[in-house]
Amino acid sequence: MVDFRLSQEQAQLRQLARDFAEKEIRPVAAHHDRTGEWPGEVLRKAWELGLMNTHIPENYGGLGLHALDGSLIAEANAWGCTGIGTAIEANTLAEAPVIVAGTEAQKTKYLGRMTEDCLMAAYGVTEPNAGSDVAGLKTRAERKGDVYVLNGAKMWITNAGKANWFFVLAVTDPSAGNRGMTGFIVDADSPGLTVGKKEWNMGQRASDTRGVELVDVEVPVANRLGEEGEGFKIAMKAFDLTRPLVAAGAVGLAQAAFEHAYAYAQERKTFGRPIYSHQAVSFMIADMAKDIEAARLLVWQAAWMYDQGQRNTRFASMAKCFAADTAHRVASDAVQVFGGNGFSTEYPVEKLLRDSKIFQIYEGTSQIQRVIISKELQRTGVRR
Ligand SMILES: Cc1cc2nc3c(=O)[nH]c(=O)nc-3n(C[C@H](O)[C@H](O)[C@H](O)COP(=O)(O)OP(=O)(O)OC[C@H]3O[C@@H](n4cnc5c(N)ncnc54)[C@H](O)[C@@H]3O)c2cc1C
Repeated sequence: MVDFRLSQEQAQLRQLARDFAEKEIRPVAAHHDRTGEWPGEVLRKAWELGLMNTHIPENYGGLGLHALDGSLIAEANAWGCTGIGTAIEANTLAEAPVIVAGTEAQKTKYLGRMTEDCLMAAYGVTEPNAGSDVAGLKTRAERKGDVYVLNGAKMWITNAGKANWFFVLAVTDPSAGNRGMTGFIVDADSPGLTVGKKEWNMGQRASDTRGVELVDVEVPVANRLGEEGEGFKIAMKAFDLTRPLVAAGAVGLAQAAFEHAYAYAQERKTFGRPIYSHQAVSFMIADMAKDIEAARLLVWQAAWMYDQGQRNTRFASMAKCFAADTAHRVASDAVQVFGGNGFSTEYPVEKLLRDSKIFQIYEGTSQIQRVIISKELQRTGVRR
């Protein structure tokens, strides 16, 4: 049976998130874009309403929401501002490896504290010379008695400047490739851990992205996630949950751009009539509506599969890739519909175009999603 209706609880949750995005996120989006100021106040309100850390299981004080529920929230947040949405989702990205592989003690300590106060966490995999090619990581973790000593540098870590703790992927056995990597939970106040300056990025400036340096950082063995050598698997497994959520964020941005373009096209007149009555414009908008709907369906499917305990890797990548490409194209077409005004910072769509680009890059580029999809097709066959 296929049923596209949301349950009453899901519809209420979506309404709650939409109202929050409209009243609390959207009105401050331009300010944070202009200043790069950390949106701490908005995040605290989101945390108080239960719109952050939504996948922490109930045993550890969380709401234990499903991925589909999370995708509804992520879409609404991103409709308000994807910079703020990304700050929220980066918590989920850091928490996901702990949800996937943490011990009871690790979950109680690190997931539990996220439900007791509005704290941030960060996912530290990328390095200056290793992004897509995770096998190229250089950060080393060497066991010395009851601790691992970590040395290396991470780059592009979202929430780094505000994080209470980090998930860090490091190499424990350099001869073993992906199987030589291990995941750790690293407290942000560990001696030897320093975060760099906030990067001034093209878009999503409300979110805080920085490099992180690790110099002789001692991490207790009790903070190792899973066994030595399991880190790569754990770090990638986290994406099965988070990629549908990131894709939902891309849908939220596309929806915002589409709504702006639709409204503008009704008002703006050329040659004596609204530009919406020129087919070249209304077809651009029809394509936006069509592609957003398709992207949302892919997101819901990938999230639903995750919730059913089915392997969703291929579908999570399809959703992420399609939604990211859609968001970028829709935002670009929205600028086109606005004409010269679209290029001006006085109007909202230029921010959306700048914000949209990163969806094709973080959590695996659009090229890497296609690599994953093509490998999964070989593994599973082409028929469903
Ligand atoms: C704002 C921002 C926030 C981020 N947040 C985080 C975070 O919280 N945590 C974290 O760990 N990382 C984070 N990242 C890092 C992000 O995930 C990486 O930038 C991304 O995975 C790409 O890696 P790279 O930048 O090293 O590019 P590269 O891997 O050098 O890729 C460069 C280009 O080559 C292409 N390419 C590379 N390999 C292949 C291939 N095999 N086939 C086809 N094309 C290929 C890529 O698609 C890309 O177009 C963030 C990045 C940014 C910019």
